[in-house]
Amino acid sequence: MTGLKIKRLICAVALCLAAIFTLSSCDSLFIFDIPRLYYPNGKTLVSHYLDVGQGDSIFIELPNGETMLIDSGENYHGASIIKYIEDCGRDKIDYLVGTHPHSDHIGSMAYIVRNFDIGSVYLPNASTNTYTYEKLLEAVKKKKMKVKNGKAGVNILNDEENSLYVNIIAPVDTDVKNLNNTSIIIKIEYGETSFLYTGDAETGELKTVTADVSADVLKVGHHGSDTSSPQSFIDAVNPKIAVISVGEDNDYGHPSSKTLKRLENKGCEIYRTDELQTIAVTSDGINLDVKSGFRTMERE
Ligand SMILES: [Zn+2]
Repeated sequence: MTGLKIKRLICAVALCLAAIFTLSSCDSLFIFDIPRLYYPNGKTLVSHYLDVGQGDSIFIELPNGETMLIDSGENYHGASIIKYIEDCGRDKIDYLVGTHPHSDHIGSMAYIVRNFDIGSVYLPNASTNTYTYEKLLEAVKKKKMKVKNGKAGVNILNDEENSLYVNIIAPVDTDVKNLNNTSIIIKIEYGETSFLYTGDAETGELKTVTADVSADVLKVGHHGSDTSSPQSFIDAVNPKIAVISVGEDNDYGHPSSKTLKRLENKGCEIYRTDELQTIAVTSDGINLDVKSGFRTMERE
């Protein structure tokens, strides 16, 4: 081999090594259109606010290796939600939560229960006789599972080793006249970071909450409606990041300009699914990272 060939070979090997090093040190790789975030200890929480149009569905990869799905959009999103979860490399929802029995929150939940491996199911103690709700109860019963009562004081996870705590902090009472005010509110604390998921809870429910609602990341209540983000609540949460799950050109005028103004005045970053599609917020226990523009869940 000539000196020139040896030099070229050394150069090629060096380039290959540099490429391998660059790829392996990258903490964020994208597979399909879903963020895959790799950290050395694998202890990452990813909260995916799925773009289900006017509705809610949040898939959470917990740092202990388990998963949670809060709400499931309308009844035509089931297959695409399952596909999204599978594309995250997950084959089980350990904790399935229906915040309250409205179709834009539990629409696809019966389908998901029938077609996916589910650990526990949490629903508020607020029954309704809608077809969607009855189908959900039927699907849970058919799997020989029991619905757990989602109410203030229920601890879902208390994992000291991972510094991970998942608690239901509302409803304290259930206002059956307004199902929004039966919404399960969940707070997740991971290391120094915290996430709050408020369903469609309105002022009537929010003022009954006695637990600490402060959180870095707020899933803004009721698609940004004014009645779910009173100034006193926004002050108490004091979020750094606000995510609004809302449909483009919806009939309700969500999100309200008052809500947006209150969040802006707090100096909070606002992310909306109608503008950015699916949004993923990641925590390594200290730092928060937001990525958006991922897959939109199938429309009707
Ligand atoms: Zn809703």
